[in-house]
Amino acid sequence: MIVVMKQGATAAEIGAVIARVEELGLTPHPIYGENHTVIAVVGEAAIHDPDNFQAMAGVDTVTRIGHQFKLASRQAKTEDTVISLNGASIGGRKLVVMAGPCSVESRTQMLETAQAVKEAGAKLLRGGAYKPRTSPYAFQGMGLKGLELLAEAREVTGLKVVTEVMTPEAVPLVSQYADILQIGARNMQNYGLLNAVGRTQRPVLLKRGMMSTIQELLMSAEYIMSNGNYKVMLCERGIRTFEPMTRNTFDLNAVPLLKQLSHLPVIADPSHGTGRWDLVAPMAKASIACGADGLIIEVHPHPEVAVSDGAQSLKPEKFAQMMRELKPLAEALGREL
Ligand code: PEP
Ligand code: MN
Repeated sequence: MIVVMKQGATAAEIGAVIARVEELGLTPHPIYGENHTVIAVVGEAAIHDPDNFQAMAGVDTVTRIGHQFKLASRQAKTEDTVISLNGASIGGRKLVVMAGPCSVESRTQMLETAQAVKEAGAKLLRGGAYKPRTSPYAFQGMGLKGLELLAEAREVTGLKVVTEVMTPEAVPLVSQYADILQIGARNMQNYGLLNAVGRTQRPVLLKRGMMSTIQELLMSAEYIMSNGNYKVMLCERGIRTFEPMTRNTFDLNAVPLLKQLSHLPVIADPSHGTGRWDLVAPMAKASIACGADGLIIEVHPHPEVAVSDGAQSLKPEKFAQMMRELKPLAEALGREL
């Protein structure tokens, strides 16, 4: 942390800041300039908000240096985290593709989609049994029946299952069915939920909140990891901007930046990122090109009658075509699909 004193700060004010730093068990390194005194503070206080220095007389600015996320950071672990799911591994050279409908709707829908995405090369089946909808009157998901259909599709195809859990209370139940627990964008900062999935050993797909910064996403990963679950995947799914022609603005800056800042696998979601099926394949390619470790893609056999997110869902044949196009791209980038 760097504390910059105001021009003309008195010796007593400077002395008070230094004394407070020492009181916290930290080491002050004052630099006396012609106009400003700067106090570099080294060390870490267990219970202290660095911003509190801002409240002290004579202080101009307080700047934190270093990251608040630790377990998630590259500094903590330089090599990429690879999460193994017996049958699929996430992170590392091989790319992973998760695909399926937004919502689990019926047995035929799930079995048909699962078969199709498997044939096209997906390793995981997605589908929400509990849906976080903007309107309480919109379809909320099939619940337990939806989880059972996901498990049946896994049984038939061998695909692993990724599905959303919305409340801490539902974590034990959803964990019985899911190979990966999805934390949705709307719940990225639901700390009770993050703590609850952190207490399990199920891998977690943590989606970036639609109004959350990259730092906040990493802090949410830190919540999960600080509870003992290190199997976290970070997911870029688009953020809100002023642009109305796409559902979200797919922030691909986040992908290489997250890879720099963190050792955790990064999954890109061009379906929610764009909200338009015709933009999904180009942005999936862009995601791989900028270093994503995998994709999560919405696929529906009949998008025109989907109960949620039909407009951004690929038909199975379009998904298969996208997968064929991604393969040589992945290879050119030294990855494998
Ligand atoms: C979803 O995956 O269908 C979903 C609800 O995503 P998000 O939380 O990113 O909106
Ligand atoms: Mn969706």
